[in-house]
Amino acid sequence: MAVPKKKTSQSRRNMRRAHHALKAVNSGECSNCGARKLPHHICPSCGHYKGRQVMSQPQIEEVSE
Ligand SMILES: [Zn+2]
Repeated sequence: MAVPKKKTSQSRRNMRRAHHALKAVNSGECSNCGARKLPHHICPSCGHYKGRQVMSQPQIEEVSE
């Protein structure tokens, strides 16, 4: 197994972890009911996609912030 020759310094470790921050979830609004939904996904609250009804019985919406 390959073993590092030198201990990773605090600086190098922190530079690597500079990219670890989480990004905000991209979200859009449903054109039918106005609820927040993911882009390119069926609206979970009304079942619409691209301006038409796609799902007759929408799933129960998960409570998420
Ligand atoms: Zn909707």
